[in-house]
Amino acid sequence: MHPALDQVDWEKEGEAVVELLRALLRFDTTNPPGNEAECVAFLADTLRGAGVEPEVLSPARGRANLVARLPGGDGGAAPLLLNGHVDVVPAEAGRWRHPPFAGEVHDGAVWGRGAVDMKHMVAMSVAVVGLLARLGVPLRRDLKLAAVADEEAGCAAGSAWLVDHHPDKVRAGHAIGEVGGATFYLGGRPFYPVQVAEKGIAWLRATASGATGHGSIPRDDNAVVRLSEFLARVGRRKLPTHPSPEVRRFLEALGAIQGRAGRAALPLLLRPRLSELVLRRGVRDPGMARLLSALLRNTASPTVVHAGSKVNVIPGRAEAELDGRIAVGSSEAELLAELRALAGPGIELELLGPSQPPTVTPPGDALFDLLATVVAEHHPGAVAVPTVTPGFTDAKFWSDLGAACYGFTPVRLEPTDPDFAAMFHGDDERVPVAGLQAGLRMLADAVARHCC
Ligand SMILES: [Zn+2]
Repeated sequence: MHPALDQVDWEKEGEAVVELLRALLRFDTTNPPGNEAECVAFLADTLRGAGVEPEVLSPARGRANLVARLPGGDGGAAPLLLNGHVDVVPAEAGRWRHPPFAGEVHDGAVWGRGAVDMKHMVAMSVAVVGLLARLGVPLRRDLKLAAVADEEAGCAAGSAWLVDHHPDKVRAGHAIGEVGGATFYLGGRPFYPVQVAEKGIAWLRATASGATGHGSIPRDDNAVVRLSEFLARVGRRKLPTHPSPEVRRFLEALGAIQGRAGRAALPLLLRPRLSELVLRRGVRDPGMARLLSALLRNTASPTVVHAGSKVNVIPGRAEAELDGRIAVGSSEAELLAELRALAGPGIELELLGPSQPPTVTPPGDALFDLLATVVAEHHPGAVAVPTVTPGFTDAKFWSDLGAACYGFTPVRLEPTDPDFAAMFHGDDERVPVAGLQAGLRMLADAVARHCC
């Protein structure tokens, strides 16, 4: 632990972070509509209580983002941004064992929608900023905090808006936020994922055109048939692999923790000719095989289809929307070219809006090594694993301003704790009290070592 934190009463801080999280969980910030303003106002009061003067920035009625800054010295070291979103996805209360917006403690865990995604990180980050402010420890760099709205609906009223309207308040050299930091066990050994890259997004529309006509006389150039054939090709054929250093590093780390067989097999996924064979024969868990396949290539999942209005009229047009994702190491242009190669006659492809390139934090960055050291010291025997996600987080926007982003919201889990990953957007979302309190110490230590 950093010496600046030697005198901290961790029992007291641990109790306070649990109470803070419970309070946050009682605000129903289901998005849509979000309604984050009250929750954010409460966070602002909490920080003021610790002597920090935050700013609340509102893009629209009922929506709010909080930013705060503990100033560092004049050394010019790049700021660190702790970040989390306060909105949550809907919860079907009838399916939960305890109410999702009550912040209750049962069986040694804090229950509620957002307990793991991701009010726990908001609570820990506010606690760490408040703690360092109260201690009055001199900082070598600015420590910034952003508690944002709207991540679950695409970030337009949250991180994307802050980056557009108040870039100086959230610009940082590094950002720590989603997704990672919760212990997982393989063969009894503890690991901590640290997200270092995420895929890009290119949402697309495919439009098929053809001749109209009477449904009683089938035609080969029927737009619905053309679109269906295209969608079937997209669904069945795998686009080419795009091996990147980040995915290689993830596979090597994953292979290393799976013993000799994994060490030999997983890197073979990067070889275009062997990739499919290894996925089919060498990766037993179908969910893991799907995840690895998605990380290796550009993908496009057909999700919305529109065509026709009457059963006996062949329409001249059929449309589909596809959730396109750009592999780390690839580009929008490559994804479009790969899909056009499958398109066939009468199919046009266009982007639904501007695409987002992949977010990448290159290897060799000292903060990753620091997080790995913190993991190893706080949890003897544990190892940090650099991970890549097919999904999307606020990191996309912080990285637009130049931040190297890590997904690390530390929670120390025991092998007997419930499956943490399954609780993202799931029923009975909860975070173990002891794991949260250990996570607070890890986050505080990491921030102190980087900033003090
Ligand atoms: Zn989240």
